[in-house]
Amino acid sequence: MAGRNFLFIPGPTTIPRRVQNAINVEQEDMRALDLPEFTKPLYADMKKVFKTETGRVFIFPSSGTGAWESAITNTLKPGDKVLASRFGQFSHLFIDCAKRLGMEVVEVDCEWAVGTPADKFAEILAEDKNHEIKAVFATHNETATGVMSDIKAVRDSIDACDHPALYFVDTVSGLASLDFRMDEWGVDLAIAGSQKGLMLPTGLGILCASEKALEANKTAECPRCFFAWEDQIATNDLGYFPYTPPMNLLRGLRESMNMLFEEGLDNVFARHTRFATATRKAVEAWGLTTIAKEGWQSDTVTAVKVPEGFDGNEVARHAYRRYNLALSITIGQVMGQGFRIGHMGDMNEIMLMIPLSGAEMTMKDLGYPIELGSGVAAAQEYLCSTAKDRI
Ligand SMILES: *Cc1c(COP(=O)(O)O)cnc(C)c1O
Repeated sequence: MAGRNFLFIPGPTTIPRRVQNAINVEQEDMRALDLPEFTKPLYADMKKVFKTETGRVFIFPSSGTGAWESAITNTLKPGDKVLASRFGQFSHLFIDCAKRLGMEVVEVDCEWAVGTPADKFAEILAEDKNHEIKAVFATHNETATGVMSDIKAVRDSIDACDHPALYFVDTVSGLASLDFRMDEWGVDLAIAGSQKGLMLPTGLGILCASEKALEANKTAECPRCFFAWEDQIATNDLGYFPYTPPMNLLRGLRESMNMLFEEGLDNVFARHTRFATATRKAVEAWGLTTIAKEGWQSDTVTAVKVPEGFDGNEVARHAYRRYNLALSITIGQVMGQGFRIGHMGDMNEIMLMIPLSGAEMTMKDLGYPIELGSGVAAAQEYLCSTAKDRI
């Protein structure tokens, strides 16, 4: 078939050619004499992406889910109370992971259209006078519903009652696309993966731990081996690893960070906000809404709500079957209620036109009451009026 398969799902995202080339290197010796010259700056630069001076980065050959497991098992003990909310498939799985590892989760169920409820958390933490809650979980960007949480607001809730709980943040679909400030927001465990904002293949679970989390590690009682921090600390400090590292992905990560720093992290964030705004203008012009409520909409993924009587899954199926375009279905509790457009990572204006135009053609084919060109034009208007020369 002629042409490309265009990937506009909210992770994995498109891999830039520069990153793809960086990954495509000869197999190398993970004990090479000069390896620390590569690994030490790699870890130091990863801290800049998390915006931390005092945190420590861990990189595991895994996916984001492994970084969840590592964060929990290295800082808590079975039976510990964890405060978490469920408002989408990923916040649900975060809770599920904690439960399966033996934690007792205080669950706050929210509508699958909003994010981490900072005010509700403030009430619960204020009542926890004996500090039985050892950790608070937030999901920075709920990829399943296209919802963004206010990570600083949750920190403020914890601080309002001087609660000592560790603050865990899943930023798998936020880091390197949405502003994230580990130190400033007092995040103790920041969890990420390689295949979303970092524009790499799946295969790295990336975690950043604060000094407080590193202290908790010394008394954590969960069994752990592959994801243990102690072994990483002992070897990473010398520029090496406790087991065979995925060297090609680390070479890719180097190039991905080079690209992020060349553009400037703040410019990267502004670009994501701009493309998300353009996407939302298209949705509005289609006469549709997002699954996320006003004020909660994500800047990396838009979940478009389909009208009554339509099946969102069919949009993704038809787009792929007929136009070789990968849009995403909505998952979990909101399955079938919409479809998702990923606008995360390596994107420019023209690339954004692809999923918007493709979604429009698809909806037209499926009998949606939309006008061809309407969403695309609304997005174009906004992009043209906010564009700047590239060079
Ligand atoms: C993708 C994602 C995960 C899971 O990451 P995997 O790499 O698939 O294990 C967790 N949380 C969020 C918010 C995600 O988007």
